[in-house]
Amino acid sequence: MEKIKVNLKENSYDILIGNGLLENIENIIDNNSKRNFIITDKNVDALYGNYLGALKNYEKIIIEPGEQSKSMDVTADILKQMLVKGASRKSKIITFGGGVVGDLGGFCSAIYMRGIPFIQIPTTLLAQVDSSVGGKTGINLLHYKNSVGAFHQPTKVIIDTALSQTLPYRERLSGIGEIIKYGIIYDYKFFEYVVENIERIKKCDENIMPHVIKRCCEIKADIVSQDEKEGGLRKILNFGHTFGHALEGITDFSKYSHGEAVIIGMYCETIIAKKLGMIDEKYAEEILSFLSNLGMNLNISNYSIAELVDWMSKDKKNIGGKISFVLPTEKGTVKERLFEKSEILHLCSE
Ligand code: ADP
Ligand code: ZN
Repeated sequence: MEKIKVNLKENSYDILIGNGLLENIENIIDNNSKRNFIITDKNVDALYGNYLGALKNYEKIIIEPGEQSKSMDVTADILKQMLVKGASRKSKIITFGGGVVGDLGGFCSAIYMRGIPFIQIPTTLLAQVDSSVGGKTGINLLHYKNSVGAFHQPTKVIIDTALSQTLPYRERLSGIGEIIKYGIIYDYKFFEYVVENIERIKKCDENIMPHVIKRCCEIKADIVSQDEKEGGLRKILNFGHTFGHALEGITDFSKYSHGEAVIIGMYCETIIAKKLGMIDEKYAEEILSFLSNLGMNLNISNYSIAELVDWMSKDKKNIGGKISFVLPTEKGTVKERLFEKSEILHLCSE
């Protein structure tokens, strides 16, 4: 088993990573206190629900899979069930599922009686490498993703790499988008490792996944512990996300998974860095050819650039009306640059 400590002073916690960890869940999670809850979705429950059966003091709340569950209605429903069943300030929540369950269940634990502890057991590759570190929880309101939420750190994260075997390829690809991002923004050696081992990563090979996931969590933990509330450094995690979020928005969050949109986003943003002369041509080619070989259609010429830029200008991370981009420069580093709308339009239409 691999273990990483996320250093956040009084909010510090451990991430445990291993193949088959859930088989011994009762040795990892304390099962003594009463009236605790597992929040999970129907698919995960059907596949793996019995893994948590040993936790007798945890009652299950099962939600519908999918982004539409990240709503005020579902939040209220979970909180009401907890109240009726007598959950106290000492109760705990386990979130057992992908990003949706983690964001929603984490949010419920952040606001129930002003905050109760929660343990995350992420079951998708994306959630394992991305949303389980950082303490962001939240739901969607109107069409605005994650527009209501709270920073609330889990007390423990348990990553069982065996669970990714049942993920469809597109779900794996979504995780791979975020995995390669860590190499580009922070660790060129890790980038090279991912490029070399991509076929095994696509298969979620149990012999290398604990290492891959560990390195991603270490990098994210390193960044987050230097900047818990997104004041500066944490922004580098947004490489690929300015374009990525715009693409998700323009396609109504239905065509691309998050990680797929980020893959296209990194592709477009690397081209922008290249046009601006911020990146060595050969290194840019390394990134671009890796992304092109993942088996995704990266062509987005059928979307209007003006509309994409409109989406970008709504982003929370923009400053003074300028659009924030995080662009690759030296190997293993990225830099934030701010652009006027017109500059981006110009760069993209060249
Ligand atoms: P993400 O983590 O990618 O944001 P979701 O929470 O929306 O995504 O999960 C994506 C889909 O995958 C959901 O339908 C969910 O029920 C399903 N799912 C989650 N974990 C697994 C797994 N280990 N194997 C198969 N399907 C899973
Ligand atoms: Zn992301």
